[in-house]
Amino acid sequence: MRTVIGLEVHAQLLTKTKLFCSCSAAYFGAPPNAHTCPVCLGMPGALPVLNERAVEYALKAALALHCEIPARSVFARKNYFYPDLPKGYQISQYEEPLALRGYLELPTGKRVRIRRLHLEEDAGKLLHRPEGYSLVDLNRAGVPLIEIVSEPDLSSPEEARLYMEELRRVLRYLGVCSGDMEEGSLRCDANVSVSPDERLGTKTEIKNMNSFRAIEEALKFEVARQRALVEKGHPIEQATLTWNEALGRTELMRSKEEAEDYRYFPEPDLVPLQIDDAWRERVKRSLPELPAQKRARWMQEYKLPEYDISVLTDERSVAEYFESVVGLYPHPKDVSNWMMSEILRLLKESQTMEIALKPEHFARVLEMVSSGQINRTVAKDVIAESFKTGKAPDEIVRARGLSQISDEQALAEIVAKVLAENPKAVADFQSGKEAAIGFLQGQVMKATGGKADPKKTREMLLQRLRAT
Ligand code: ADP
Ligand code: ZN
Ligand code: MG
Repeated sequence: MRTVIGLEVHAQLLTKTKLFCSCSAAYFGAPPNAHTCPVCLGMPGALPVLNERAVEYALKAALALHCEIPARSVFARKNYFYPDLPKGYQISQYEEPLALRGYLELPTGKRVRIRRLHLEEDAGKLLHRPEGYSLVDLNRAGVPLIEIVSEPDLSSPEEARLYMEELRRVLRYLGVCSGDMEEGSLRCDANVSVSPDERLGTKTEIKNMNSFRAIEEALKFEVARQRALVEKGHPIEQATLTWNEALGRTELMRSKEEAEDYRYFPEPDLVPLQIDDAWRERVKRSLPELPAQKRARWMQEYKLPEYDISVLTDERSVAEYFESVVGLYPHPKDVSNWMMSEILRLLKESQTMEIALKPEHFARVLEMVSSGQINRTVAKDVIAESFKTGKAPDEIVRARGLSQISDEQALAEIVAKVLAENPKAVADFQSGKEAAIGFLQGQVMKATGGKADPKKTREMLLQRLRAT
């Protein structure tokens, strides 16, 4: 049985102000109804003015998704009655959206077609109180969103998750959406059907999933439910469902009969939006290298394993950091290993995405390791301290006496002691087992807490062994 999934994603744009008024769009954590004005409160006579930055962000997303941009798009009123919508309609785009016919390439290489991408305003928020009444907060009313509608090209819950993760990555690379699913700045409605043949089955639409995991789980549940029905010969009822996270199941919200008629019509208070070639090209030129391009280039240029590439290109700032370090210390796999272990751990601990360690400091630590000035254990400490204090690695090594012992006399004493304490290894070496030198060198390292200069140690050991 074939599974077919299509996603409708809403992404909040990171503009300073709302889509049609100058209220702040940063509603998260603000006191209720603090970010409101006659426009977003829907007062009679108040008129909307389109936020140019929101259009630019939507364009960026559309172009990054390889969409066509019609020369004109039209805002429309989507009418429905609900207390989170003060005007009684949402300004959206309907018949003539901002962008059409694009695609998103998944890390697997599969291209998922994008049907359309349009601009619209968000609704307010209702807080339902257990006492039996609801509070209305309109800070979110009028916040700019883009809606991105895919074609039904996804063929499993896992693939739907990959699509969402990649879409989030693209939007974050562009800097147009924070992609925070828990906070609701990235939301997804999932349409799903199953079918025994090439025809599309009847779909259901699932809402209220607020994590990647929830999307995958909800779809798995729904696919299983639909399969069981179809296998028994029962029909699938077209419906809108809600994901009950606690119970791990989908539940009926409304059936097809209850589907709403939004009575769309063109918004008379806004002129059509015209995007000329010059504007489109300017935005196109401003696009950064996107995750899929970056992954492909890294494969070619750095020859890193796929896993390293996926980890290090997930966040644009981390990827760019990697490239700055490799520019200074051209050993990609080395840099990758150290970043994946040390830097990503420090980022996690400090709960930021800002890498506080300067690329030149990080590169310098790796240089000190490869030249033998410090060993790997010491390097970890130096990285951690430089990350926290911003101090230069050389300074830290000097101040804490972490530098390797290369002082001839100090080293000579330790070498003599190790040779005296390990007669068997000495005898082995002298009877031709040259590998015994590695053991003796290890003993010197141990005796110095890893600080002996490996090259000097080896020279000195050889000199002594050959002299006796
Ligand atoms: P509706 O008219 O019910 O809103 P649309 O044709 O506009 O349906 O599609 C909405 C979303 O549902 C799109 O993302 C689309 O890819 C997806 N979709 C459409 N038909 C199916 C189907 N049979 N199975 C799964 N997803 C579908
Ligand atoms: Zn306002
Ligand atoms: Mg539709």
